[in-house]
Order: sequence, then C-alpha cells, then structure tokens
Amino acid sequence: MANNNGFHIDMDVIYPKNLRSFCSFIICDIDGTLADPTQRAARHNVPWPVHNLDEFPESFTEEDIRKFLSPQEVLKDPITKNANEIKCYLFSLYENMITFYITCRPPYLKETTRKWLRRNHFPRFDLLIRDDTEENLNTSVDVKLHLICNKILKISGCYIDRLYLIDDDDNILNKIPDILYQQYPDINTIYTIDAKSDKIEVKLIPFYDEHYEYLKLINKNS
Ligand SMILES: [Mg+2]
Repeated sequence: MANNNGFHIDMDVIYPKNLRSFCSFIICDIDGTLADPTQRAARHNVPWPVHNLDEFPESFTEEDIRKFLSPQEVLKDPITKNANEIKCYLFSLYENMITFYITCRPPYLKETTRKWLRRNHFPRFDLLIRDDTEENLNTSVDVKLHLICNKILKISGCYIDRLYLIDDDDNILNKIPDILYQQYPDINTIYTIDAKSDKIEVKLIPFYDEHYEYLKLINKNS
C-alpha cells in the first residue's frame, strides 16, 4: 500500500498490531466526478450515465464497448464542471487524509486513467480500479464496495476517523455509507460529496439509531 506521497511503505511499520492509529480517507470517483465522458458517450451512442460494464444496453457488442472504452477515446475526455473545485478540495485535505481514486473502469484502463489524471493536473494518489476477480460483481455499488473493503479498510489496520466519498452516482452516495457503518463499527463518521450537484457540499451521513441497535445485537451474539 502506498501513502499519499507515492512512497510504498510496509503497513506493519506504520500500524503495529497492538497500536492501532486513527486514519481518515477520501475516496474519489473518476467518471462523471472528475472526467466528463458525455461527449465520448455521444460519439458512440452510449446512453450516459453507465456506471458499470453490465449497464450497457443489450444491443451493444463487446466490440462496441471496447471502442467506447479504448484508451485513445478515454484520454480525450474533458474535465467535469465541478472537477476544479473538487481538485482544490483534494489538495486542501491531502496532508491529513489518505486519498484514493476509485473507478469501475476495466483493469486495462489503469495506466490510461493515471495518464489522464496527470494530464489534467490532479494530485497523485493511488488508483483503485476493478480487477479480474471482480468480474462477477454486477453493480457499481458492488464493485466499489469490494474495492473499499478489500483494498483499503481490511488492510489499513487502523481505526477510521473520517471517510469521505466523492461520487456522482446516487447509488454509491446513498447505499455505501449504510453498508460500511454496519460492516465496520470502527468508522467514526462518513461524509459524502455529490459531484454532480450545482454546489459542492460536504454532507455528513449520520450513524443511524438502528445501526446502534444492529451493533448491540452483534456484540450480544459474539
Ligand atoms: Mg461516476
């Protein structure tokens, strides 16, 4: 796992097993949040938004999808109307946070996505992209949840103070916080930022009473 400055560090050194620290994370989506694929979608007659490979209309062949998701095409995407504001936000917070970009794009677009981010002067953070083992995950919520849980939370070894989700997909913003609160009782607070709204605002997602009840139940049964 790499830290924010690009150095690869053995997590055991930072988080000895008996001394867990508190960490805060920002998890920032790419398509529709930073990159605007609408012109590319129009060129290929793809009804946007398509949040996941399985959301393409049935009439689309693998070849159609491959063309739409070719590195040359993806690199042409302009930034979204809110991308600069989000970029400022990422720069303002990155010293205190561990930040990841996250995307449901296919794994072969990893280097292309990094190149696009560099080309558009986004800060350099690790990129979480779906891998071949996630092929059977059908929705963007499934893919991103899998990436967040297995590539960040499980291995970080720390308590999670704040977790920010920046995304343009309502499914991600509405469903993932609830699931994470239930699965990771160590998380203090989750915030969301809706990247497609007219005004970029941080919204606190409260830890609902029913989650306390749920946790009490788990603790009682464990
Ligand atoms: Mg998106």
